[in-house]
Amino acid sequence: MHTDHIHDLAIIGGGPTGLYTAFYAGLREMSTVLIDSLDDLGGQLTALYPEKYIFDVAGFPKVRAKELVDRLVEQMNSTGHKPAIQLGKAVSTLTETVGEDGRGVFTLAVGEGSIRARSVILAAGIGAFRPKSLPIPGIDALEGKYVHYSVKDTNRFKDARVLIVGGGDSAVDWANHLAGVAASVHVIHRRDEFRAHEGSVTQMRAGPTKIMTPFELKAIEGDASGLKFASVFNNLTKEETPLGVDHVLVNIGFLSSLGPIAEWGLELKKGKVVVDTRMGTTRAGIFAAGDVVSYDGKLALIACGFGDAAVAVCHAKMHVDPKAKLFPGHSSEKK
Ligand code: FAD
Repeated sequence: MHTDHIHDLAIIGGGPTGLYTAFYAGLREMSTVLIDSLDDLGGQLTALYPEKYIFDVAGFPKVRAKELVDRLVEQMNSTGHKPAIQLGKAVSTLTETVGEDGRGVFTLAVGEGSIRARSVILAAGIGAFRPKSLPIPGIDALEGKYVHYSVKDTNRFKDARVLIVGGGDSAVDWANHLAGVAASVHVIHRRDEFRAHEGSVTQMRAGPTKIMTPFELKAIEGDASGLKFASVFNNLTKEETPLGVDHVLVNIGFLSSLGPIAEWGLELKKGKVVVDTRMGTTRAGIFAAGDVVSYDGKLALIACGFGDAAVAVCHAKMHVDPKAKLFPGHSSEKK
């Protein structure tokens, strides 16, 4: 899509931070476009853990990740200033020009088209990301059907024999979650120690999950009709054990990179975008919020992303309209 329209704000990323950014920009009556390379809104919550409960978002004692995304979308669309949404399109390059009115304009290459905006908020999280896979012959052909990297629908694992590979939070949390749904859950991890939340590991050890350490996945046999078996390998004894399984869930982390955004001339620290206390990057008019940012004391939490977003939007508003107030007043004062 090429358009002559110049938006007040372009938001890159539709994770929780991007969604809240779009809502706050609506409160500030900005015309906004939000772009995400994934086909669905929600960022990591939708792609990596839609069925998991989150316990540390203010106002929700307990909320499933996909429900939080639904509520953020509802809130984003509630202001009377709905953003334009572009999904399934990655932002690659950014160029800056001065418009006929003497004001700066950013042009973003989005998929095959381009978008123009007077300010940009990067809410790109951990960047365009993909889960790590295992170098096992034939695994690619089984992906999406019997080999998974996230759980999109718990029902798929109902009464099935599930093998989970990994030792971090995702592996342990899914073991606990699926233990009440699946017929059986095996967890294999190449080390004896799990790198997950202590309470979750305790829960897993106390439950029905069969834990095998230090084990690795060696081979999977299967075809279009299902898995025949998975072969697991003991790192110490070098023994191989065949396990009868219906699904394999690989949770060994993910690879991510900022991709082309790293070439935009912004100061970076350990792959994150350095921001000041206004959430301003080292380029005027470009702000950032959420997991993508680096500042002293930053925590990669949803709650912190929301705070970053409100600050970034108010400063973007002042960049677009220097006469605007920084503090918009309280939303509760709205008629
Ligand atoms: P993201 O959610 O990463 O979203 C960024 C979006 O930007 C993505 O959709 C991506 O596709 C898009 N994007 C990136 N680059 C481009 C580009 N060039 N063009 C277009 N789009 C682009 N946090 C908590 O607070 N509580 C929890 O209980 C919790 N549990 C978690 C459990 C797991 C298993 C994981 C992995 C994380 C958990 N987190 C939790 C962390 C939380 O998910 C992140 O802090 C949060 O998702 C960050 O939101 P974000 O919007 O900044 O980034």
